[in-house]
Amino acid sequence: MLGEIRGEVRFKEQLSYHTSLRIGGPADIFVVPQDFDDIRHALQFAEREQLPVAVVGGGNNLLVGDRGVRGVVLRLEGALGRAEFHGEEAVVGAGVSLSSLIRTAAAQHLGGIECLVGIPATIGGALAMNARSADGSIADFVSAAYFLHPDGTLGEYKPGHGSIAPRALHFPPGSVVVGCRLRFTRRPFAEIQRDMRQRLKSKKSTQPLALASAGSIWKDPPNDSALRLLEKVGLRGKRIGGAEISTKHANFIVNRGGAGSADIIGLMELARDRVHAQFGVTLEPEIRIVGE
Ligand SMILES: Cc1cc2nc3c(=O)[nH]c(=O)nc-3n(C[C@H](O)[C@H](O)[C@H](O)COP(=O)(O)OP(=O)(O)OC[C@H]3O[C@@H](n4cnc5c(N)ncnc54)[C@H](O)[C@@H]3O)c2cc1C
Repeated sequence: MLGEIRGEVRFKEQLSYHTSLRIGGPADIFVVPQDFDDIRHALQFAEREQLPVAVVGGGNNLLVGDRGVRGVVLRLEGALGRAEFHGEEAVVGAGVSLSSLIRTAAAQHLGGIECLVGIPATIGGALAMNARSADGSIADFVSAAYFLHPDGTLGEYKPGHGSIAPRALHFPPGSVVVGCRLRFTRRPFAEIQRDMRQRLKSKKSTQPLALASAGSIWKDPPNDSALRLLEKVGLRGKRIGGAEISTKHANFIVNRGGAGSADIIGLMELARDRVHAQFGVTLEPEIRIVGE
């Protein structure tokens, strides 16, 4: 079945090349599918061989262990990379980059989704994580999402009005998101562009965008802000090995060079313990941790 894959199949591919933190050991079997059928073949192969499957989009929210990932890793960035616009809607493949979609839509005077500008993501990763800014999340624009079950059959998810959880669209465990339909709002290009510039400026001034990171490490606890709590425990600039709690944003950990997954985990444990000791709140990771 692997032989039927028309895209790329690599063995022992270093995942540090595929994560924004630049951390991660080898994937046993690394598949970059060319199309839908390739994903099916990879899923069916994994099911037959009883191997676990992990999905990587742009790798912007992932901490991969230094000893890597057993089984099959599907890398979707660049695969399923088409977006087709029909009036105020678009059908978008999971591998399309969120930022390029926002810009393509803007050029057609289609907006709303520019509230997510500056979030590094594939559409699949944005849907899986429900990528969000202070005033919106991708779930707000989704009229339908499509995924493959682990057995390769196609599923559809239609978020009902008012039923969207603020943090997640609900996909079955082990499914691979392959695309979605998104709804936009008509807005003049100049207005969208002005909005995007402001948002990018504010992101640049508050986040360490020039350094390797994975975005916010911790979720906001109910009715509170992880950043607020982390600022209070005073760990900005704290280092373990090559990893550092950003001096610019206490909820970011950056790889200053040569950091391993244990360095990141060490800083996470320190921050979680401090917040728990000072506020009695147990932070939950936003970052997805995979592998050994
Ligand atoms: C500098 C920086 C700033 C950031 N700012 C923000 C921000 O403002 N707001 C925000 O929400 N996030 C932010 N993030 C985090 C990150 O950009 C988002 O979580 C984004 O949605 C991740 O998309 P990705 O394609 O890189 O997913 P990945 O990191 O590759 O994957 C994330 C999770 O989604 C799963 N996944 C990915 N694709 C699929 C698929 N097709 N099917 C099923 N599961 C899939 C993966 O298995 C993994 O569990 C930031 C990250 C960085 C590095």
